[in-house]
Amino acid sequence: MKDYKLDTLCVQAGWSPKTGESRIPPVCQSTTFFYGDSQAMADCFDLKSDGYFYSRLANPTVAAFENRVAALDGGLCAIGCASGMSAVTLAALTIAGSGDNILCSQSVYGGTFNLFGTTLPKLGIECRFFDPDDSAGHIESLIDEKTKFVIAETIANPSMVVLDFGKLSAICKKHELVFMVDNTLTTPVLCRPKEFGADIVLYSTSKYMEGHAAALGGMIVDLGTFNFKNNPRYPAFNVPDESYHGLVYADLAVPFGTKCRAQMIRDMGAIMSPMNAYLSFLGCDTLALRMERHCENANKVAAFLNGHPKVEWVKHPSLADNKYHDIAKKYLPKGCGGMLSFGIKGNIDKCRAFMEALELITQETHVADVRSCVLHPASTTHRQLSEHELEMAGVPANLVRLSVGIENAEDIIADLERALERV
Ligand SMILES: *Cc1c(COP(=O)(O)O)cnc(C)c1O
Repeated sequence: MKDYKLDTLCVQAGWSPKTGESRIPPVCQSTTFFYGDSQAMADCFDLKSDGYFYSRLANPTVAAFENRVAALDGGLCAIGCASGMSAVTLAALTIAGSGDNILCSQSVYGGTFNLFGTTLPKLGIECRFFDPDDSAGHIESLIDEKTKFVIAETIANPSMVVLDFGKLSAICKKHELVFMVDNTLTTPVLCRPKEFGADIVLYSTSKYMEGHAAALGGMIVDLGTFNFKNNPRYPAFNVPDESYHGLVYADLAVPFGTKCRAQMIRDMGAIMSPMNAYLSFLGCDTLALRMERHCENANKVAAFLNGHPKVEWVKHPSLADNKYHDIAKKYLPKGCGGMLSFGIKGNIDKCRAFMEALELITQETHVADVRSCVLHPASTTHRQLSEHELEMAGVPANLVRLSVGIENAEDIIADLERALERV
């Protein structure tokens, strides 16, 4: 499928039925798979043949969606996970262990911030947060021989910081360090991190990829760009894995992806369910079309809010005065997606009054599906964070996160206008 354009891949990649087979991938709702002889099954366990044997490790419906996402990102393989958070967790644990450290942009999604700031340290993995606007020199000063990867989001949720790929990928190349990118809010339709130096791409497919707020899911894409062989930073890829018959991952065609599935998925079991993979696969059919409309609507809404007297500030990279406007032009020429954030003049109560006055746009924890929705992070998703942490994460108390859907833009704007009048 290599030569097709992205919008074609959205519709066609991942499933090519043979004569008489179903046109779309069937929901293969089975824990296990039949084998007539024990050698054939043993070969699967040894990774000598790639048949299915148990759905905790691989499943045909999940594989269809995995193959589709891998094709969209130009990756070697993808691994479907139970949720975006499990994708971030399993990707991190595939290369980092006790005594190691990782570098993470401080403006990442709240769940990722908690995982790296609280939970992974309990396992002995230290996280060094950096400000994405810091100089390359400062970020580099955080790296030592125990650093295993650098991670950031293409567009951070909800701080709307746009990733300066050039800066981070140059640092990672120089130190022969894995560069992971969470591409959830842009999807491969707006940004293919492979073109800008990423090695591993992560998704919460619960957002735009599935697109309809119907199924949770996560995806880890191994782009195959990183050379683990004999890199002293990654001994676990260069010594035999005794839990897998002495496999040396760096010698394989897909080192990261294989280690992730053979160890992490096997041991942690947080795999995507077949039904969720089926729904996400269907959602993905319209991904390119939807992203186009999300971008168009968000640009109109951002321009409207930007001129409104009751709005203190608007963060959307489409706005000419946005701090990340030029970076977005370089890395996201097709648009910046449907997410934006803005600050209402006044205190938290004004934010709440505004949100309660909305009629079309609903209050939801979710973002990035077809329906417009709002959220006040300081009193919901980010309420576990202290005031200092909120500031670090780029989420001031009056921030309203708006996920612009694919409804008619005039209706969305009219609803916002009505609600702002009530503030
Ligand atoms: C939502 C989100 C996640 C977590 O995904 P879940 O599917 O909710 O577990 C991770 N990263 C980003 C950027 C997200 O927006």
